Amino acid sequence: MSELNKIVEKYIDFEKRLRAFMDTICAQHCRNCDDVCCRQEFCRETIESPFLSLLREKAPPLATYSSEFGWLTETGCALCMGRAPVCYEFLCTDILASQKTKFDRSMIKVLSALINHLGKNALGPRHLVEILHKEDLHRLRLARFEKRLNDAEAGLNVVTTYLRNQSFDGRYLPILVRITPSQVYVSKDFAKDEHRKQKSIFNN
Ligand code: SF4
Ligand code: SF4
Repeated sequence: MSELNKIVEKYIDFEKRLRAFMDTICAQHCRNCDDVCCRQEFCRETIESPFLSLLREKAPPLATYSSEFGWLTETGCALCMGRAPVCYEFLCTDILASQKTKFDRSMIKVLSALINHLGKNALGPRHLVEILHKEDLHRLRLARFEKRLNDAEAGLNVVTTYLRNQSFDGRYLPILVRITPSQVYVSKDFAKDEHRKQKSIFNN
């Protein structure tokens, strides 16, 4: 199997698990939403990206692309795999407000950033979805992709464990800071201070 095929398989496996978990948080809101945030320009990004197009070949969408509505159908997004990173990144105020604590909100923001993190610096400084020529995909290297994947897996693991059991392993904070550097739930210095860190997490 080529390096590219291995990357595609690993990406699909990760996206599948991330999406299943995010659905447990978002579906109850999105199902009843009367102001759906999907936009045709976000859908178009998936058409313009050779990498996301490869994912669709492996996991075909449930409906064909519409020039008017993109992938949006009456029952939601038709894509099985390969949504644009922005589709994961946006969390509306309803979803954020439904989280019990500030730290819970931080945790789901980490979840929403994982797909974007996974694709960063895939080829030089280029993100996976910024690679616009199909032939350049063959220059992707599995080892480089796996570094990002390891971070993303750790992020998914620590957040799902926290949201299921309310238990948080502070050793993962540096990875979370890497995934969401602009997030202010804890600063890099704060992450080094075990006592203050735990206080911050559980007092919110
Ligand atoms: S994320 Fe929020 S705004 Fe977007 S469809 Fe779901 S509930 Fe609606
Ligand atoms: S979730 Fe699907 S329908 Fe919505 S913007 Fe993204 S690709 Fe389009």
